Amino acid sequence: MIESAIVFILVLVGTGIGWTLGYRSGKARPKSTPVDWIPSIDFILAQNTDLTLKRIVNAQTLDDDSVELFLRLGCSLREKGEVERAIHLHQTLFARTDLKGVLLQELELELAMDFSMAGLHDRAERLLLELLESRGRIQEKAAMVLLELLEGEGEWQQILDLNQAKKLPTSPLLQRRVAHAACELAERVASSGNYVETRQLCRAALKSDSRCARAFVVLGNMAFEQNEPHEAVRCYLKALDHDPGSIIAMLEPMVKSFRQLGDPRGLLAHLQRHGEELNYVPSLVARAETLADLEGADSAIAGFIEDLERYPSYTGYVAMLGLLLRHKQRLTESQAHGVYDILHRIDTDDPSFVCSQCGFKAREFHWRCPSCKNWASFKAITSSSHSSVVIEDL
Ligand SMILES: [Zn+2]
Repeated sequence: MIESAIVFILVLVGTGIGWTLGYRSGKARPKSTPVDWIPSIDFILAQNTDLTLKRIVNAQTLDDDSVELFLRLGCSLREKGEVERAIHLHQTLFARTDLKGVLLQELELELAMDFSMAGLHDRAERLLLELLESRGRIQEKAAMVLLELLEGEGEWQQILDLNQAKKLPTSPLLQRRVAHAACELAERVASSGNYVETRQLCRAALKSDSRCARAFVVLGNMAFEQNEPHEAVRCYLKALDHDPGSIIAMLEPMVKSFRQLGDPRGLLAHLQRHGEELNYVPSLVARAETLADLEGADSAIAGFIEDLERYPSYTGYVAMLGLLLRHKQRLTESQAHGVYDILHRIDTDDPSFVCSQCGFKAREFHWRCPSCKNWASFKAITSSSHSSVVIEDL
């Protein structure tokens, strides 16, 4: 029976592939036969799941190829949100005692992902913890899914415990996530004034990921709170070396620390080195303010407007007005034309940050992208619009 089910599915899939190839090779030719639909796995599932399941239950034996096909079908069901049907399919396969080895582990992994998506986190977690005992690709994948689950629940300590017990693979991608878990805890502990534990957690973060800029930001903030500007600056600069984007998370205390040290030229040098490539407006403002103190407001504001012309933004425009008012300056006529141009290029609904991994935009900075769940992927947005504006009417 099962053979005939698989043959039926393969024939439909084959028809789909055949149609696709035919369609592609026929693209160069003038439009001739209109096509109504392409039979997809989704379509096959919609038509046949219940029948297919019955056949699995009744089949005497299942070969590896057919199990893999059913795994794919289950995954496809989950991806289109039919998680209950996916669970049913995977559990029906799971109930068979003749599955073993990697296929059984793959099935457990699929089932864990179903449970996770259905909000049955305890059941997902149990399966994933079992799978961590395996090796290779399955262990790596199970660890990724488990970490995503624990991150969502804010179970940072559990992540560190698993890592401490050497249950997690040592791949850089996973260890980076462990480092952020340690930083999450470190920030929490620091806010309660427990600096010894904060330092230990930052050390743990750096042990997992020696390039974790965030750990240095936390250490810098701690030194800043303890009125140690020298140490704060040292940590902030380390963070900048590892990730120039981390300036977003520490600009204010970094500027204050440099000022406490009486080193405006040092601050200016670092803002110029890291700020320009990021075009993070508050960083450009800090640079203009420092330059105004050192060389006068005229040239500082002129430089700021040039930055704005290259990378116009609403935030930048507001900041420019602030600079003008604070330093009691007026725009020259050519600067006024430039500002008019900037205003035309601004999208007033512009969010401030964008995820460099998935493009998700937000007004708030997040260490962990709410969309793709990547860590430290948020960057400051600059408008890429460079449309020229006619200014004769000004
Ligand atoms: Zn993202």
